[in-house]
Amino acid sequence: MAHVINDECIACGICLSECPVDAISEGDIYVIDPDLCTDCGACMDVCPTGSISQE
Ligand code: SF4
Repeated sequence: MAHVINDECIACGICLSECPVDAISEGDIYVIDPDLCTDCGACMDVCPTGSISQE
């Protein structure tokens, strides 16, 4: 299990610094590496578009 970012991501970057394990990568939309994600939920709490959910 991991958190995932859907295509409603506006690449604002707010989640990037919230991830304690640096699992989030920049791009046209941001991506979470499922091998690094610990499902802490920190990124989901700060996403202004509600684009992050638990898979
Ligand atoms: Fe990082 Fe936690 Fe979001 Fe997973 S749920 S990408 S560990 S901030």
